[in-house]
This record gives sequence, structure tokens and C-alpha cells, in this order.
Amino acid sequence: MKLVIAPAPIPAVPVAGSADSFPVRRIYCVGRNYAAHAREMGSDPERDPPFFFCKPADAVVPVPEGVTTDVAYPPQTANYHHEVEWVVAIGKRGRNIASDDANDHVWGYAVGFDMTRRDLQFALRDKGRPWELGKAFDQSAPIGPIVPATRSGHPTAGRIWLAVNGTTKQEGDLGDLIWSVPETIAHLSKYFELAPGDLIFTGTPEGVGPVVRGDLVTGGVDTLGQLSIRIV
Ligand code: MN
Repeated sequence: MKLVIAPAPIPAVPVAGSADSFPVRRIYCVGRNYAAHAREMGSDPERDPPFFFCKPADAVVPVPEGVTTDVAYPPQTANYHHEVEWVVAIGKRGRNIASDDANDHVWGYAVGFDMTRRDLQFALRDKGRPWELGKAFDQSAPIGPIVPATRSGHPTAGRIWLAVNGTTKQEGDLGDLIWSVPETIAHLSKYFELAPGDLIFTGTPEGVGPVVRGDLVTGGVDTLGQLSIRIV
């Protein structure tokens, strides 16, 4: 059987220290997973269970090691925000995964940016509407190389940070997650069957803010490397 149009390319992220790449199937994102960021978004972190939203797989912008990659300022926003996040790459299929088994499903880890049209997100949120226009737009998920867990182990702590034009804007620690990675995988896999190629953006620490054309946005996790993008 012949495809009637050319298939879209498979979105993929480079593997750190290798010529290989990791093909992306789905992108899940956790909302408000650091207490201080939940407070700056106006909610009570102690009472809110984890919640999730998605981005399309082709929203990824793979940012190779040591390369600054251009990202276009998106249309229909006047408040385009950075959110630096620890990203989990799933390598093994599963549903109803127990927290104790969750690390077995992780292929590797990376650092990514959950870029956000904050004005649209808030307008939709306030009307109880879906967040896609605020979160799931083109190029909304820049991501650095994926470090295989066989090399990184399964971090439970480590500094996560983001700087705009060299000035630190976000700083936190992976250990400050309200819902740990194993807990997040356990929770998410009650609702979706996770599969190889899935990425989970685990939430952002406090200090989110706007970027404009020309800005250099750099972020990282101390044990997992860093990425940088230029807003154009
Ligand atoms: Mn986020």
C-alpha cells in the first residue's frame, strides 16, 4: 500500500556523546511540580495532585551539544515564557507502573524548555478551556541531548537552572520536585500506557518569565548537561 502523501519525519533527539538519536513518540508535561513555582502561578501546592498536559512530538527542537539553536518567537503572544525542566525519556512500555519499578522504564534523562505563551495559557485556564494554544505550539519543546540512564544513573537531586543573556532567572534542585520521577511515572501510567519514545517534562522551578527576540536562553541540570537557544 502506498502512502498518498510523504510521511512526516520522525522527531528525534540526539543521544549525548553519540551519533545516535532517540525517536520521540509523545510528550507529556507535568504542571506545577515545584512548590515555589505553584505558588507563583497562584495555587496551593500542598493540596494539588499532579496534573498533565501534552505537546505534539514534533514540537521538539533538538539542540545538539555545544550548539546554540534558533527558535522562532511564536505568533499570537505578547508574553512568551521560559520554563526549564528535567526531562525523562521512556524506554520500556508499561501501564499501572509501580513507583518501585518506575526507574526500569527510564531510558535516559535530558534538560528541556517547556516554552509557553503565558498570556494564552492564562486566558484559557481562566475560562476552563484546554491549554494547547498556550503550550502545544510549534517549537515549544527545545531539548538537549539525552543522557542514557546507564551512564547517569537515576538522579534524585542536582541543581537545575536557566539564564537569559547570562543572568540567572530560574534555579532549583531536582530534589525539590513535589512528585518525584517514579511517582510521576506511576501516576501518569494509570491514565496512559507509556511506551518507548515518550518524553516526560517534569515541571519547572520558580522564576519563569518572558523572553524576546534576540535573547540567549541557556539552561541545564548539573549532572545532565545544558542547552542554549536564541530567540529569533
Ligand atoms: Mn512546565
